[in-house]
Amino acid sequence: MLIRDAEIFGGKRCDVRIEGARIAEIGELRARPRESVIEAFGGALLSGLHDHHIHLAALAAQNSSVQCGSPQVTNADALARALQVPGTGWLRAIGFHESVLDDALPDAAILDRIVPDRPLRLQHRTGRMWLLNSRALEELLAIAAPPPGLERSGSGFTGRLFDEDAWLQRALGSLPPDFREVSAELTRFGVTGVTDMSPRNDPVIARHFAQQRAEGTLLQSPVLAGGLTLVEAEQAGWHLGPLKMHLHEAALPDFEEALGFIAAGHAQRRAVAVHCVTEVELVFTLALLECAGSMPGDRIEHVSVASPELVKRMAALGLQACVQPHFIAERGDRYLADVEPRLHPDLYRLRTLREAGIPMAGGSDAPYGSADPWQAMAAAVSRCTLSGSHIGPDEALTPEEALALYLADPLDLSRVRRISAGEPADFCLLGLPWSEARSRLSCADVAATICAGRLVYQRVDQTPFERLARADAAP
Ligand SMILES: [Zn+2]
Repeated sequence: MLIRDAEIFGGKRCDVRIEGARIAEIGELRARPRESVIEAFGGALLSGLHDHHIHLAALAAQNSSVQCGSPQVTNADALARALQVPGTGWLRAIGFHESVLDDALPDAAILDRIVPDRPLRLQHRTGRMWLLNSRALEELLAIAAPPPGLERSGSGFTGRLFDEDAWLQRALGSLPPDFREVSAELTRFGVTGVTDMSPRNDPVIARHFAQQRAEGTLLQSPVLAGGLTLVEAEQAGWHLGPLKMHLHEAALPDFEEALGFIAAGHAQRRAVAVHCVTEVELVFTLALLECAGSMPGDRIEHVSVASPELVKRMAALGLQACVQPHFIAERGDRYLADVEPRLHPDLYRLRTLREAGIPMAGGSDAPYGSADPWQAMAAAVSRCTLSGSHIGPDEALTPEEALALYLADPLDLSRVRRISAGEPADFCLLGLPWSEARSRLSCADVAATICAGRLVYQRVDQTPFERLARADAAP
């Protein structure tokens, strides 16, 4: 395949030949007989974007779920309306935030008033909690013993289930979902690779990824972070990523136990990726790593709140950061209302991390954030919330720095992937030069996506187009 007349990101306009899944040559090239040609017309050719923090199974499940988050659902009436879904059997709803019910987390009895006659599970926006109605509690407890994460009250269970997805999945006997739809959706954004950060990723889900890759259902090349058992399943179809450590400020793990977990990961020669959305979680993690010792590739996920002093300690440990700038747009207004004002300057720092020399990458955290990396890039540059407030404007990145978050090598965030011969043929082709695209940072400008040398997406109504090079082939 030949991509003709593309503006190589950071370079000049030329042609790129793909052979198999690799870049064969770059220069002024002539199409070979019967070679397919993609006309780029001077559009910017980027290395395919990599989403460095996503939850694919949850994203796929979202498509069969009722949306109960903002902006559609912002009050009790809207919540009740959203949950009136015809049908029988389990109702899976997502995106709930307590602000909808005047900052109250509903218990089973309250949910029963909205959905009395079928089992309902309503997921909190953070993905850390499910709220169950009485029918759901009955059905689950008929199959499985109550787990520690199911909240008790004097008379029984409240229906609030914390961090028990593995239990829920076992009880419901659910299979990992098909990735076809979400994978296709990601190609529209120019995403050619993903790092799945689900802490529960294990050999079963790894086999599912391998199978979906082999079938061509999953088009993006996957890196799997997850639990310690993941190493047992190493096989073709995916790359082994870091050990994921989930923290929850309200229930931090025992320090010694957490040290043991990190040591076990490092013994597997795997870096750790620690979820830190609060200052306390980051302080805890830094203390852990200062004690256990860090290894190259150890990373902090989210870095939602970080003072300059904590950023210095991250840098001293040689840590990397995976950030979600789109949360500024999506959740920024709520942050400004909920987070103590003294912490506002510490929210979603980017510039400070960069200047501290911390290698950075961008991840959507979808389905808990938009899967569109272009929205994240735009927010990294504008630092603007939905209502038009600004969060830490000094922390803004340039469009090129924002793009670089998605060009980082998923197996070594300190390396930026480049378009050169021998590299994987993963591309995001824009319909216009970078000098124009940089001021818009919109997925609408993605004209074509190529995964491992295969054209997997092209915008229907505009250039480029693929054709066979009969007419201009050398005689
Ligand atoms: Zn996540």
